[in-house]
Amino acid sequence: MSRPLRVAVVGAGPAGIYASDLLVKSGEDVTVDLFERMPAPFGLIRYGVAPDHPRIKGIVKSLHAVLEKPEIRLLGNIEVGKDITVDEMREYYDAVVFSTGATGDRELRIPGSQLEGSHGAGEFVGFYDGNPDFSRDWDLSAEKVGVIGVGNVALDVARVLAKTADELKVTEIPDNVYDNLSRSAVTEVHVFGRRGPAQAKFTPLELKELDHSENVEVIVDPEDIDYDEASEAARRESKSVDLVCQTLEGYAIREPKGATHKLYLHFFESPVEILGEDGRVVGLKTERTELDGTGNVHGTGKFTTWDVQAVYRAVGYRSEAVEGVPFDAERAVIPNDGGRVLDPSTEAPVQGLYATGWIKRGPVGLIGNTKSDAKDTTTMLLEDFNAGRLSAPAKPEPQAVLELLDARGIAVTTWEGWRNLDAAERSLGEAEGRERKKIVEWDEMVVSSHPEYEI
Ligand SMILES: Cc1cc2nc3c(=O)[nH]c(=O)nc-3n(C[C@H](O)[C@H](O)[C@H](O)COP(=O)(O)OP(=O)(O)OC[C@H]3O[C@@H](n4cnc5c(N)ncnc54)[C@H](O)[C@@H]3O)c2cc1C
Repeated sequence: MSRPLRVAVVGAGPAGIYASDLLVKSGEDVTVDLFERMPAPFGLIRYGVAPDHPRIKGIVKSLHAVLEKPEIRLLGNIEVGKDITVDEMREYYDAVVFSTGATGDRELRIPGSQLEGSHGAGEFVGFYDGNPDFSRDWDLSAEKVGVIGVGNVALDVARVLAKTADELKVTEIPDNVYDNLSRSAVTEVHVFGRRGPAQAKFTPLELKELDHSENVEVIVDPEDIDYDEASEAARRESKSVDLVCQTLEGYAIREPKGATHKLYLHFFESPVEILGEDGRVVGLKTERTELDGTGNVHGTGKFTTWDVQAVYRAVGYRSEAVEGVPFDAERAVIPNDGGRVLDPSTEAPVQGLYATGWIKRGPVGLIGNTKSDAKDTTTMLLEDFNAGRLSAPAKPEPQAVLELLDARGIAVTTWEGWRNLDAAERSLGEAEGRERKKIVEWDEMVVSSHPEYEI
């Protein structure tokens, strides 16, 4: 072929960036247009990872090296499926890779989930991470709050709720987040898991780190430390499970340090109802469970009502469909076979369409996992190319798609734009002795990226 293979990657989170990188360094002549809905790249590294995790946020630095590559063109502030349809994209690209991740909350089907004061964890994350799609204000008038779920997102939410606003002021949080957190009445956070310590989904480092704040007392009831045969086997088989159990055992037996804010980790308590009065949360009802030998639990019929005035449901994220791309609504993923998008009616691959990252396999795993995922998907794409299974687009010239976007009046944000926005956020932070302060408003992000745009 006398021209480069033209690939569109949709979603500039870690999965999309790793996929772009693998494509351009594959040895084939490939150029990538990396489409992103938000004005800024990096997906959940920017809008998911907690602000007090600067080491993880720092992964962005290594992704800079990828986005600097001349064969990769970042096209931000464009929602694929709306601003440009998937059929239209076929006119410009040989193949399209979807790496659209997840932002919504998975539903928790217990009574009371809709009450005022019952929040999806993702909504709170969107707020404190300054995502323009989410609320600028947050009601933190509850003194005692419940968090349902025992994964790292539950830990993030519990930690941000339990820490003081001043502890977070050194991070990149914007002013509206600091102002809200500084008015917080929260003094007790109760995290609930329906199974035991060996079944928790925490990673050891994040669980240990929970205890680093002088203002937060992490408390585990010794009665909640229990293992059955399957739990013991899980500890033997996985170092990570064993480390989590050891850390929890340590929390259960030590003397309190006398911190002002209490963070309780409860196990074997299955949330059955969020209790309300006048439409607002006034409590959480749980049923005590016990292990059945296989690592699963059954209810004991013993119920407890917890005095909490807000509940955060951290039971997982959920992906959204992209208009024009098959979607498995049950699993909330794009149906695929290792990365090749499948037509749900025939179960055959849809020519030229691929998926990677959370939209491919569901919202589990760390940033690092998206790399191996991207490898599988891009290998398939290149196999299809080399086997002649891709069909050539009508308008492969790089300029053609820009003309379409321009004709639609879309204020495209580019890599140079991110450089400008990055500099603007760093200079806002520098004035307060921090590394960065995030710009929240969508239009302000666009104009900071490209001052010549008028919004
Ligand atoms: C609250 C939270 C905290 C986390 N903390 C950590 C952590 O500390 N360490 C760690 O390793 N992992 C962490 N993770 C996991 C990590 O964020 C994910 O593994 C990773 O971000 C998944 O990458 P992705 O590229 O598939 O999706 P995403 O990061 O979600 O990126 C998808 C991108 O696609 C864009 N997009 C969506 N739809 C469209 C469209 N139609 N058109 C154009 N663009 C679109 C989105 O705007 C987004 O930028 C955390 C996750 C969450 C939710």
